[in-house]
Parts: sequence; structure tokens; C-alpha cells
Amino acid sequence: MNISVTLTQNPKARPDESKLGFGKYYTDHMFMMNYDIGQGWHDARIVPYGPIALEPSAMCIHYAQETFEGLKAYRHEDGSISLFRPMENARRLNASDDRLCIPYIPEEDIIQAIRELVRVDQDWVPRQPETSLYIRPFVFATQPNVGVHPSESYLFVIILSPVGAYYAEGLAPVKIYVEDKYTRASRGGTGATKAAANYAQSLKAQQEAHEKGYSQVLWLDSVEQKYVEEVGAMNIFFKIDGEVITPALTGSILPGITRKSTVELLKHWGIPVSERRLSVQEIVDAAHSGKLEEVFGTGTAAVVSPVGELCYNGEKFTVSNNQIGELTQKIYDELTGIQWGKRPDPFGWVMPL
Ligand SMILES: *Cc1c(COP(=O)(O)O)cnc(C)c1O
Repeated sequence: MNISVTLTQNPKARPDESKLGFGKYYTDHMFMMNYDIGQGWHDARIVPYGPIALEPSAMCIHYAQETFEGLKAYRHEDGSISLFRPMENARRLNASDDRLCIPYIPEEDIIQAIRELVRVDQDWVPRQPETSLYIRPFVFATQPNVGVHPSESYLFVIILSPVGAYYAEGLAPVKIYVEDKYTRASRGGTGATKAAANYAQSLKAQQEAHEKGYSQVLWLDSVEQKYVEEVGAMNIFFKIDGEVITPALTGSILPGITRKSTVELLKHWGIPVSERRLSVQEIVDAAHSGKLEEVFGTGTAAVVSPVGELCYNGEKFTVSNNQIGELTQKIYDELTGIQWGKRPDPFGWVMPL
């Protein structure tokens, strides 16, 4: 794939690396590529970051035919930059696109686009501990037509955002509300995809949980509201009586790359781990009998997020004395150690830029 490059004439001032937050700042450039029926993907280009002109009738605005990905570039101590399992993101983008009737993009083209864009803006990859460059690829329908059918034209865009630790307080236990009114993903729906529509419909539950003092919701299955699925933008793990359990990928759960890496790491360490159906009752019982040892979420943004409190049906459960669990910390240290090049990478997960 040939990517043309137009450099900005107005480079931005760099934000203070100690106050990056998450998703507040964007770099100088973005990648764009068009799709038109009959022509396929064409005009791959890196251009100055800026607004995108769309017809008011562009289909993405009306029917949310849009998918996205999230990954990071990490700066190592020697100044070099790497990506973490980017092929997994490229494959998952195509899996999401297939479900949303968006045309396939060759995975090697997705990786090439990410690498060339990060190279152009490589000075934006922050250097302070715990910081990284968040990479957001997304694809959306642009055909000007308010009929409900797959669009005949699309834009594939990649933007970059220098980010700090996801939680300003650093690695600290979060409070999670077990959601028993709203559901996230239905059987046969789009729960396994990173489709924009999934997030729009989840905001209400998140807002109500915030009002009750919880930072995220834990979703239950939409059929019986009995089985645990995942958290807002994280997969979830429970350590019960020595066994680590995460819900099996049944089609309504997002197949997280941090989830997959965590499962592979636990197997490598010889720690019992299972992907299976897990009822909320089993967790409540474990909490009552003192066997609920640790709970943590996994996702690219926060990597590993310890859970210190769960609330279900009006009852509150404290986990690990509201401290970071021992295994949670070990997984966090190992994954972030591999990502920032501080620990060896026996799995071949790291791709140098
Ligand atoms: C992105 C996402 C995750 C985490 O996936 P990673 O690949 O680990 O970042 C989990 N759940 C949902 C709903 C997500 O959107």
C-alpha cells in the first residue's frame, strides 16, 4: 500500500506529560483512506490532524455503522518505540467490520498505516513512566443516504493521543456496580464487536452507577441476567479459592486482547485459569464464605484494574480488603513490564516500530 504524506505547517505545542489524562490531546497528523463501491480502498494518506467534512445525510450519523479499535505505542528506556500485539487489533477490526457489513481491510495494510502514522508523530510518544500513545483506528459509513442499508462508501481513519495512567490516582481499586436493570449485549447481537452503537446504549447504566458512587458497571447476560459478562470497556476476572475465572466468550462479550494475554500469562505461570460461565450467585456465595480472593478488570486503556468493591442487589462486597490483590499486581507488573520493554517478552507480543 502506498501512503502519501502531507506534513503539517502548524505543529502544536506539546502538552505537559505529567498531566496528560486520557484522550484529551491529539497529535499533529492522522491517517485516512477512502472506500468506494467498485473502487475498493484507495487514497491512503497521512495528513494534518483536523476536522472531517461529512454530508449531514452521511449514514454513520443516522444508523451508527461505525467500528473502532484501541491499542498503544510504548516508549522504552532506550528511546525505541513498540506496539503490543497489533495484529490482534487488525484482525478484530475486520471481525467487527464483517458484523457491521463494512468492507474488509487487509490486516497488513492496517498495521502499515498504524506504523507509518506513529513514525511521523513519533516525537509525540511520551517519555514519562506510565505514559503511552493511544492509537484509535476507526471506520465509518459516509454515503449520503438516509435509507437503511450498508453504505457504499467509507472512511478508515487513525488518530493518536498521548495518554497518562488511565486512573489519575494510579493503580487503585475501583468500585463496580453489578447492573441488573439494563443489559449491554443481546444473544445474536453485536456484543463481540467494537461497534460504536454498543457504547451509546451503555451510557445510561454508567451514568446511574456514577450517581450511586460506582465507577463502572458489571454487565450480566441479557437472557437471564444471572451470568457475569464484562465491565464497560474491560473484561473481568475473579479469583475464587485459588482458581482464576473469566467468563467464556459466548458472542456477547468483547474478546479483549489484554484478556487473552492475561489468560496466556496465567497458563504460562501454571496458575489455574478457566474460561467458563460464571453466575453472579457463585460470586456472592464466594464472597460470603471468604473465598472471593481477588477481582480485576483488563483492557488496553488501564491494562489491569483492581476491583475493591462490588454492589449487587443492594448488598456491598469488599474485595481484598479494598487493596490491590497480590495476583492482580503481579499481572499488572508483568504486562506493563513487557509493554514498556522492562521485562523479557517470551511470547513475541512486542512489535518494534
Ligand atoms: C476494548 C474493550 C475491552 C478490552 O479489550 P482490549 O483489547 O483488552 O483493550 C473489553 N470490553 C469492551 C466492551 C471493550 O470495548
